Amino acid sequence: MTVAAAVSSPKSRVLIVGATGFIGQFVTEASVESGRPTYVLVRSVTTSTAGSPSKSKVIKELQDKGATILYGSISDKELMEKILREHEIDIVISAVGGVKILDQLPLVEAIKAVGTVKRFLPSEFGHDVVRADPVEPGLRMYNEKRSVRRLIEELGVPYTYICCNSIASWPYYDNHHPSQVLPPLDHFQIYGDGTVKAYFVAGSDIGKFTMRTVDDMRAENKSVHFRPSSNYYNINELASLWENKIGRTLPRITVTENHLLAAAAENRIPQSIVASFTHDIFIRGCQINFTIDGPHDIEVTDLYPDEPFRSLDDCFNDFALKLNHNSTLADPITSSLFNAATCA
Ligand code: NDP
Repeated sequence: MTVAAAVSSPKSRVLIVGATGFIGQFVTEASVESGRPTYVLVRSVTTSTAGSPSKSKVIKELQDKGATILYGSISDKELMEKILREHEIDIVISAVGGVKILDQLPLVEAIKAVGTVKRFLPSEFGHDVVRADPVEPGLRMYNEKRSVRRLIEELGVPYTYICCNSIASWPYYDNHHPSQVLPPLDHFQIYGDGTVKAYFVAGSDIGKFTMRTVDDMRAENKSVHFRPSSNYYNINELASLWENKIGRTLPRITVTENHLLAAAAENRIPQSIVASFTHDIFIRGCQINFTIDGPHDIEVTDLYPDEPFRSLDDCFNDFALKLNHNSTLADPITSSLFNAATCA
């Protein structure tokens, strides 16, 4: 089904929170590229990692690309009201990390108080949190995301929830973050029987399609689901795709449902959160066990049928290239390559 276009203002003024983070960088780059005046909120060096050399570099790069840097925390409601008014912000996008989800509550209240923001995109960028139902400790993060949704809807703040499913990377169940590790070179861990499918989306496409929705009236008060057919794989198929890129086959080891549940129950943060999401995706099928037919649901390829997604095949080509560039590393599987292992 294709839905007729209905874009309001292509030059809305955008405020992005979490622009120095993993997902936030993709969104900010897409916002700047779209030509919208883009403001990014960065926490002061005393309250965050913004003073670290890598964050400072990201901030400088965003500034060089044309973003305006503002300082503060979204947990400061008065400051947020001031910023939203002074800069006449139309669109607010939050990409705060999983441990800071509740910091968004004062921001939602500030948006309501100011009354001029046309759209708020809270930090979602994953599964549909009202449908997915991971075990703990992932459930806690989803409960927090659900409570942010509740406040948005209670206050009548116009919203779009980006349900982009998995980022294109190898879905290890025990990593700290998907940005950290390339696909394996020693063996594959296959979850259950390896047949449950999921969607894998390039970071640059998360940014690009997020920015397409922000002033598209068809996406107002909707969950926008990312289900590109070219990126629909189960873990057996992912393994074959990677074998094809590296030109050899690897042993496959089964990781059972009970093993994933035990890893989640260890409650090591963040690894156990990743284990609980892995269980939800590859055992329970949380990305695919529902149809997108509710009054508040829309599929991104119905909104923009002519715009292609980067294919996972293409992303895996990139990973193989990155692997070659890092061939001097003793153990590319466990080496930390921030942002090296996701497709941009
Ligand atoms: P990161 O931890 O990489 O970045 C979080 C950002 O939020 C940082 O820039 C941080 O700034 C900023 N921040 C945190 N608290 C505040 C605050 N109070 N005020 C202002 N800025 C703040 O987050 P991720 O990119 O990993 O996660 C973002 C979202 O994406 C989450 O909802 C997460 O669940 C989801 N996600 C989805 C994935 C997928 O596969 N679909 C993969 C990864 C994440 P500072 O530098 O100051 O700390």
